[in-house]
Amino acid sequence: MKHQKKFLLSEQDLPTQWYNIQAEMPNKPMPPLNPKTHEPLTAGDLSHIFNMECSKQELDQTHPWIDIPDEVQEKYAYYRSTPLVRAYAFEQALGTRAHIYFKNESTNPLGSHKINSALPQCYYCKQEGDTNVTTETGAGQWGAALAYAAKLYGLEAAVYQVKITMQQKPYRSYLMRTFGAAVQGSPSMSTRAGKDIITREPNHPGSLGTAISEAIELATTTPGCKYALGSVLNHVALHQTIIGLEAEKQMAMAGEYPDKIIACFGGGSNFGGIAFPFMRHVFDGTHKDTEFIAAEPESCPKLTRGKFEYDFGDEAGYTPLLPMYTLGHDFKPANIHAGGLRYHGAGVIISQLVKDGYMRGVDIPQLDSFKAGILFAQTEGIVPAPESCHAIAATIREAQLANEEGKAPVILFNLSGHGLIDMPSYMSYIDGDLVNYRVSDAEIEKNLEEIPLKID
Ligand SMILES: *Cc1c(COP(=O)(O)O)cnc(C)c1O
Repeated sequence: MKHQKKFLLSEQDLPTQWYNIQAEMPNKPMPPLNPKTHEPLTAGDLSHIFNMECSKQELDQTHPWIDIPDEVQEKYAYYRSTPLVRAYAFEQALGTRAHIYFKNESTNPLGSHKINSALPQCYYCKQEGDTNVTTETGAGQWGAALAYAAKLYGLEAAVYQVKITMQQKPYRSYLMRTFGAAVQGSPSMSTRAGKDIITREPNHPGSLGTAISEAIELATTTPGCKYALGSVLNHVALHQTIIGLEAEKQMAMAGEYPDKIIACFGGGSNFGGIAFPFMRHVFDGTHKDTEFIAAEPESCPKLTRGKFEYDFGDEAGYTPLLPMYTLGHDFKPANIHAGGLRYHGAGVIISQLVKDGYMRGVDIPQLDSFKAGILFAQTEGIVPAPESCHAIAATIREAQLANEEGKAPVILFNLSGHGLIDMPSYMSYIDGDLVNYRVSDAEIEKNLEEIPLKID
């Protein structure tokens, strides 16, 4: 009999609620703090920047299930369910007895999981009477997702894209424009923050920190305009639980349950998205031994070598203080190609779960990540995003470990996106121009001195 390759849910079986893990965590996350007064923030404080519904979701520690609005379910149905795929050819190339499954989040119009949160964020803005959304973007995955979602719900989107990335990798900037967004290279002359920088340094290449400052300034000075973030925050991970909730049903269709769950780790939204729904079975004792592994780049090792402290979410220090594993908010990771993983901190929920021993991080060198991605492309036929290559490399490690131990675990990893717009990264790897970047202990120590509020 032919083995089934992929598992899809019919539209009527799509999840209708997201899973809010905060409500069921044994130790709840500590609150975000006002950086000046160190007072816990309320949803009302957050709603100056974000829409009200997301501000509430951010702090909700009571409701384990949150309804997905009908209008969002309708847009999810354009591309969901995403396939759960058994990676037979990849398994064979690895010579492993492990069963390897991946959840393919690359099959939507934007090519990554970020659309799963862009849609509800734009929907809530529209509901609450906003007319505009704004954000920053590095390589452009988030900006593109927001541009598309804004268009679907009839909002104007303004995206500040780091200038140097916009020049070096122009395709996503045109993808955003294709979906109707106004895209500005940051620093720009359209905000005070941008103007100040350009006046001091006319050829400033831009940075995510600066782009965040510009977007927040636009949101707080423009009536009807809200800021939207594509990772790190609790409400973003909440929306991404659609990934794990589908995967749970699809694994059941395959007649298996994962022993190990793996995803790449930037701020934690795709990892949390696939992990949290399965984590509830750790909490309720039905599957106590599932392992959860976050694959971060060796050049930005916040989970394995960072510290659990209150730190700013952005480089410039504009955001609230968040209790998280961090390398210090002005840590400058090497310019690796997995741009989406170059973030100094880890989401608050995941940080707490790592601290409590429910999850762990592993560090992947850049060259290992591309080597893994190329093996995956040559076996399964999908060119993975440079970020997703980290999850694949971690999966290979686990499969090899299982071989050594004579075990055959079921491994599930999340393929967060495809790499077809990231071919310049593959070009550098194939041409032999890439290197590994290991951060020294001294560098990490030095950066951690800048942390604004230490937790004892
Ligand atoms: C943004 C991005 C990531 C990293 O973000 P998380 O919030 O950690 O998921 C990973 N993969 C892809 C394809 C991305 O676009």
